[in-house]
Amino acid sequence: MLTDSYGRIATDLRVSLTDRCNLRCSYCMPPEGLDWLPKPEVLTGDEVARLVRIGVEALGIREVRFTGGEPLLRRDLVAIIAAAAALSPRPEISLTTNGIGLDRRAAALRDAGLDRINVSLDTLRPEVFRKLTHRDRLDDVLSGLAAAAAAGLTPVKVNAVLMRDLNEDEAPALLRYCLDHGYELRFIEQMPLDAQHGWKRAEMITAEEIFGALAREFALSDDSERERGAAPAETFLVNGGPARVGVIASVTRPFCGACDRVRLTADGQIRNCLFARSERDLRSLLRSGATDEEVAARWRAAVAAKLPGHGINDPSFLQPDRPMSAIGG
Ligand code: SAM
Repeated sequence: MLTDSYGRIATDLRVSLTDRCNLRCSYCMPPEGLDWLPKPEVLTGDEVARLVRIGVEALGIREVRFTGGEPLLRRDLVAIIAAAAALSPRPEISLTTNGIGLDRRAAALRDAGLDRINVSLDTLRPEVFRKLTHRDRLDDVLSGLAAAAAAGLTPVKVNAVLMRDLNEDEAPALLRYCLDHGYELRFIEQMPLDAQHGWKRAEMITAEEIFGALAREFALSDDSERERGAAPAETFLVNGGPARVGVIASVTRPFCGACDRVRLTADGQIRNCLFARSERDLRSLLRSGATDEEVAARWRAAVAAKLPGHGINDPSFLQPDRPMSAIGG
């Protein structure tokens, strides 16, 4: 098992399949994009499949989430998902995506074994979408969402980040849209993970502000039926339920004590936290002919060294060198 010295066990593997993205969300990367990883440095589909197999068969991984960058940019995504779905015990398989192109691929992804999906949608206003992502793709995201629901990847979850003076007033409209379409919305507090290092504590929209905005239009109540466990989102019933809304308050209400996640970057580095300042290199081990056990041993050592918390609220906090797009959100 993947245990750390604070008694936590990592069972949820987040795999970044690429650092590339077809949007330029301002809380993530600059409008001109980034210097992408050179192709030879990115894990091949077979290498990803092998590491997922080692995680599941030898290290107790039970859930695998594919993310990026934008994972739909990987042409071999269906094969990667099928390989994970063929494992025993079969892990739960999910995908985090911006939804662009999902209208054409949702059914194939489901057929390959995808169980659940999260689609990112920060605004319903085309001009705000353009400003926030530097692309004109809102309609593509909305049709991707609809295709995910039609393919039965339910409950479709929607991730939204609110930014001051941009989309901060959209919390109620986003919730209304998600309720109308049967999607489950979760707001994510903006974290210091942008490549530009522009995040400011004083400017971020806090969970308290989100609750305040929602409370003006909806009644939120305790969701005692659903146990939170290691889930990042705190969920609430909307207007008595059964619809729910979640808030991932990584900054103002950290949940590191219950964290069960471990991350594999697109270039084969294991990170024990989004905010880790160091990584362990599995790619060079794989490529030097290491055995599964040697790979598993390095992976175990990476998780064993996990710190008790992300430290965002400490005066000595240093943002990680890699941005969210390169770590995998
Ligand atoms: N491209 C995919 C997508 O858009 O969902 C997957 C990768 S993206 C990095 C995963 C999630 O991280 C998205 O929901 C995005 O909104 C969120 N995210 C990115 N940067 C963030 C930041 N600085 N703070 C909070 N959430 C962030």
